[in-house]
Amino acid sequence: MGKSVLAVDDSKTMRDMVSFTLRGAGYSVVEAENGVAALKVLQGGPKVDVIITDVNMPEMDGITLVKRIRGLPQYSGTPVLILTTESDQSKKDEGRNAGATGWIVKPFSPEKLLQIVAKVSP
Ligand SMILES: [Mg+2]
Repeated sequence: MGKSVLAVDDSKTMRDMVSFTLRGAGYSVVEAENGVAALKVLQGGPKVDVIITDVNMPEMDGITLVKRIRGLPQYSGTPVLILTTESDQSKKDEGRNAGATGWIVKPFSPEKLLQIVAKVSP
């Protein structure tokens, strides 16, 4: 069975693009529209192998989500990639300090996204 990815973004268009890219490569994808919804998926559903999250979202932003994910014992070591329009080094540092595994700046290239996901979850 292919690996599973949780894609978190408040933009449906962006979730669709990420899902389309990953599903085309054999991943199964679960989507959530913000950090609160993502935590519900993580706490209530089958375990996912990789999490990809936006930063700027209502309800709960991506940096807070990463911190919360790292507080879940079953997800303390799961790769979390941040996919965002933000490219400030200070934001990236914030993400890294929160426990993010990698940082991808939008717009993303499908090949690059697949490459990075495969790298963090071989
Ligand atoms: Mg957003």
